[in-house]
Amino acid sequence: MRGALGGPRVLLRRLREVMAEPVSAQDRLDKIVVLIAANMVAEVCSVYVLRIDATLELYATEGLKREAVHQTVLKRDEGLVGLVASEAKPINLSNAQDHPAFSFRPETGEEIYHSFLGVPILRAGNTLGVLVVQNRARRTYTEEEQEALQTTAMVLAEMIASGELSALARPGAEPAVRHSQQLNGAVLSDGIALGHVVLHEPRVVITEVIADDVPRELKRLEVAIAALRADLDRMLEDGELADGGEHRDVLEAYRMFGYDQGWLHKMREAVTSGLTAEAAVERVQSDTRARMLRAQDPYLRDRLHDLDDLSNRLLRVVMGRDHAPSRDQLPDNAIIVARSMGPAALLDYDRKRLRGLVLEEGTEHSHVAIVARALGIPAVGGIDNATGLVEPGDAVIVDGTAGHVHLRPRPDIESAYAERVKLRARRQAQYHALRDKPCVTKDGQKIDLMINAGLLIDLPHIDDTGASGVGLFRTELQFMVAHAFPRTNEQYALYRSVLDAAGKRPVTFRTLDIGGDKVLPYIRNETEENPALGWRAIRLGLDRPGLFRIQIRAMLRAAGGRELRVMFPMISMIEEFDKAKEFVEMELTHLRRHGHKLPDRVEIGTMLEVPSLLFQLDELLDRVDFLSVGSNDLMQFLYAADRGNARVSGRYDPISTPVLRALKDVADKAAAHKKPVTVCGELASQPIGALALVIAGYRALSLTPSQVGPVKAMLLDLDCKKAQSAILPLLEKPIGSVSIRHQLENFAAAENLPL
Ligand code: PEP
Ligand code: MG
Repeated sequence: MRGALGGPRVLLRRLREVMAEPVSAQDRLDKIVVLIAANMVAEVCSVYVLRIDATLELYATEGLKREAVHQTVLKRDEGLVGLVASEAKPINLSNAQDHPAFSFRPETGEEIYHSFLGVPILRAGNTLGVLVVQNRARRTYTEEEQEALQTTAMVLAEMIASGELSALARPGAEPAVRHSQQLNGAVLSDGIALGHVVLHEPRVVITEVIADDVPRELKRLEVAIAALRADLDRMLEDGELADGGEHRDVLEAYRMFGYDQGWLHKMREAVTSGLTAEAAVERVQSDTRARMLRAQDPYLRDRLHDLDDLSNRLLRVVMGRDHAPSRDQLPDNAIIVARSMGPAALLDYDRKRLRGLVLEEGTEHSHVAIVARALGIPAVGGIDNATGLVEPGDAVIVDGTAGHVHLRPRPDIESAYAERVKLRARRQAQYHALRDKPCVTKDGQKIDLMINAGLLIDLPHIDDTGASGVGLFRTELQFMVAHAFPRTNEQYALYRSVLDAAGKRPVTFRTLDIGGDKVLPYIRNETEENPALGWRAIRLGLDRPGLFRIQIRAMLRAAGGRELRVMFPMISMIEEFDKAKEFVEMELTHLRRHGHKLPDRVEIGTMLEVPSLLFQLDELLDRVDFLSVGSNDLMQFLYAADRGNARVSGRYDPISTPVLRALKDVADKAAAHKKPVTVCGELASQPIGALALVIAGYRALSLTPSQVGPVKAMLLDLDCKKAQSAILPLLEKPIGSVSIRHQLENFAAAENLPL
């Protein structure tokens, strides 16, 4: 390296000695800047640390005025130092004063220095500070010098992350690395959890940053790379899916990066400059993460994610740690933090210690979110770089109601949330006390409250809630959380367990409702322009009768000697119902012929989710044994508003005249045909929605288990006749405003109904 005394390795060796000295944090920093300046033949070396108020404070300098230390504070976007911090990229200039971002602070005396090399102090892609060298002469720092300074910055990153510098900070101006922050994401599963961070993929903790023996470290790196490549080749050849069901194309991307010369060169270079093999992998990974966090292009972000994953794998190989530590050693109050996670992985955790989940990826409809909801674990997704921001053991609050994560919360936030948790627990206890009370309104109307379910882990909810049955069993969930198509006997076993758990209480099984947003990872689907209107649910069932019939057979066999209630999703015309029913009859005949024990009774119904059925009600009701209104899909089709698109899904109120007119018509016609009708969409799960539905004439609702308590509490206080006379006339009148939520709220307030 031109101009450097003894090169980067000598510098790193000296730094290691300084790191081991029993001196104060300030003395250590002061020694470090002197060493760096001398080694790089620079007149100035300064360390700026990013503070919790998003400013950069000068913590140490060699060359600038000493009085400026802890006095000079730059805004995060101020000057060249601010630019290095915000872009997380080095800036290398022979004449800094020509740069448009240049600004100088007179108290530092830096105006006499022309050349400037600033590098970000990065950890897991996050900027912790900036390290700068300056010279009077207009010189250009070589690439090697820049590389050496970045390597040195890594040592400083470890020092800042260790918390050692906090002692030097004024209250309110601590280093940002450990500050409390609120992160905003998407609600995956409702509820509030307080606990401590457990990384799903534990970070490999690097204890040795500086190499003793560079050739040995280079060898370690080469051996690890070769092992990584062999591993990837083997997985691709065996067609084996990696952890979490990654797809083949992800493995292909890994393999491509595994041979990427640019990546390998950077890591070798970092080792050559004096880092251990593992520190070199982490140093290059940190740059990748910083780029990933700033990349706008989704394709590029995905690729950088892949590269980040691959770096994690390589780190484990280098450190000889192939597997994550055992999941049984989970601390109490564990909040799992992960990039992404498959549903099976979540189920592997000890439920008693698992409190919450935070994901970088993951949406409301992701499979892991479905499982989190079934387990009743608050979860928030879409938190950028969550795994990079946390440290294992950090205190964290997951607010799955608002979609916030409070990392290292301030005491006032923590106590406010602790209060909310207590309040929720008290309410739960009140709801629990209602469990065995019959659900009858004040004026004697009996309302059937059932639950929606879909997984084995949902079954305890039947007893916990005191529900009168399972009004909707979403059979697709078993398919969605599996890695491969569940075999007939697996389907049979699940249905049988559900019927056993329900005992005498009815269970309504819905046949597979896949397609749309419910994708099965192991089935290659053609991309559809409008998946919600596409080849899904019963359409798929009727076109692939093999699949459909296997499922029907499993249900019929599981219900041998009992009642089977089966319904079809997304029926849009009576012919589809007839055809689907025919398959059930064919299977019955088949089983009878083979001497199987048949159900005592088979009730066949349909979901009402497609508006076309509203105009075939008489014909439909003549055919079906029961109807179940899927208000989620029915709403999206009635208002032509995608239920998965937050921009439009909340735009139209389901508690509105057009929807309730349609729903009342369904309830009236069902009553006239003496056919039972239930509502199983989300509308029934909110007390105000349930109120509207009971007013419209519904006497059976199927709810998310956690909502049985609140809905029941409302119904027990309701005078149904009074509510009907207050609200039903509104449906007859010409529409003034479409939503009638307000009128319902007023009624509830006047009646003291808990909504
Ligand atoms: C519905 O559409 O209301 C329904 C209950 O089905 P899912 O939410 O599973 O589509
Ligand atoms: Mg639906």
